[in-house]
Amino acid sequence: MNEQAQDGPHVVVLGGGLGGVACAHRLGDEGVRVTLVDRNDYHQFQPLLYQVATAQLPAEDIARPHRTIFREHPTVEVRTAEVAQIDADGLSLTLTDGTRITGSHLVVAAGARPEYFGVPGAAEHAFALYSVADAERLRLHVQSLVRTGAEPDADEGELDIVVVGGGPTGVEIAGALTELMAALAATERIPRPGRITLVDRGDALLGAFSDKSHEYAHERLTEQGAEPRLGTGVSAVHADRVEFDDGSSIRTRTVIWGGGESAASVVADVPGLPTGRGGRVDVLPDLTVEGHPHVYAVGDVANIPGKDGTILPQLGSVAQQSGAWAAANILRELHGDKAKPFHYKDKGIMAMIGRNAAVAEVGRHRHQVEGPVAFAAWLGVHAMLLSGAHSRTDAFLSWAWDYFDRDHAATVEWETRPERIAWGDESADVPHIVLDRGDPTVAARRD
Ligand SMILES: Cc1cc2nc3c(=O)[nH]c(=O)nc-3n(C[C@H](O)[C@H](O)[C@H](O)COP(=O)(O)OP(=O)(O)OC[C@H]3O[C@@H](n4cnc5c(N)ncnc54)[C@H](O)[C@@H]3O)c2cc1C
Repeated sequence: MNEQAQDGPHVVVLGGGLGGVACAHRLGDEGVRVTLVDRNDYHQFQPLLYQVATAQLPAEDIARPHRTIFREHPTVEVRTAEVAQIDADGLSLTLTDGTRITGSHLVVAAGARPEYFGVPGAAEHAFALYSVADAERLRLHVQSLVRTGAEPDADEGELDIVVVGGGPTGVEIAGALTELMAALAATERIPRPGRITLVDRGDALLGAFSDKSHEYAHERLTEQGAEPRLGTGVSAVHADRVEFDDGSSIRTRTVIWGGGESAASVVADVPGLPTGRGGRVDVLPDLTVEGHPHVYAVGDVANIPGKDGTILPQLGSVAQQSGAWAAANILRELHGDKAKPFHYKDKGIMAMIGRNAAVAEVGRHRHQVEGPVAFAAWLGVHAMLLSGAHSRTDAFLSWAWDYFDRDHAATVEWETRPERIAWGDESADVPHIVLDRGDPTVAARRD
């Protein structure tokens, strides 16, 4: 079926993450017709995935229905569908049911997927942490291990976990899991905490940060009981163990992959979409694709030029700002003005290493802060990111301060429902989270 372009501007957006939502919002504010296509009927907030995986937040708190987000934007139509093909020349998307949606402009905001670098068994046996469904799968898996680990005849290493990748994702999930294990052991729900090993090829955790932050992350994680193992690569992942390139191995049924990412598979081999590092779409400074002035790529799916020939990192604030900027450039064009090169307002880099432990590097000179000050910086940036999907950022702020401060042992809600953020949503605003759907861009772990 062909859905022909109608008269007037019609922007087709692929992806309803931080980039796509920011773009559609800005255009919807101006009454421009938009069709936003995403395989999920909800927007997912990746920075809080580890909170879902460790049962600190229910999944629906970080998955907001697109229809709710755009309730006040009548010109934004949301389509829940898998995009099979992009046609950059024809400014259209083809869905898996054959429907073709054609616009006057195309914005590709399809995000990223885990990159396993060809490590045998990693795609089959490791848990990714890219989507709400991934986080739920990991939570359910650990929950079932906690049950078997609590049995008197359980294997000693039943609860041992290996996290691959010492960047912010690996550090954050390792910190949260170590706290979870300690809390479960302190409340006698498991006989002893599982060992959490954090493996990275490099010689420091949080490689993109300063030496001071490397040390802080290392110290805090070690204090919490995690075991960083640096200078070590993973050579294979099996259902019951992980092998390293120094010939050693660890017995484990839980390997979590935070070891790298590449662009969503839908942008691979698309005529007219040049791809470079990480399989991402190379864009010009104004976020359009060379030779295609009406095709934009934003967020994690794009190699966006920064200052001095650098490529901007795959961060929420880059995605949100580039999505809004692409919309602003489309609006400029509609008003007869020239598109402007994207200017990124750098919010710094930051990571939460557990309750009471956070590190941030902010400002032009990357000023390093730790503890509550770093957490406050983290909170400001993340409240801003969430504001695209939620109007009640105050609810997030009060939940987050409470989380940062409170005593963990008392609050691990493993068997019952975790405390919710008081979003004040209506009961009809429920995302449809499907765990077992074959997802072509995210290789889910199969037990
Ligand atoms: C675990 C984790 C923690 C993170 N923590 C932080 C943090 O603390 N701070 C920070 O700034 N950044 C963080 N990031 C990075 C940040 O979340 C991303 O940079 C940001 O979400 C990218 O936004 P995006 O819109 O480009 O892509 P996404 O948010 O990934 O959205 C892409 C959308 O496209 C859809 N899609 C893809 N392919 C198709 C298809 N073929 N058909 C239909 N729909 C499709 C997907 O369903 C998805 O909704 C984290 C990332 C992860 C994975």
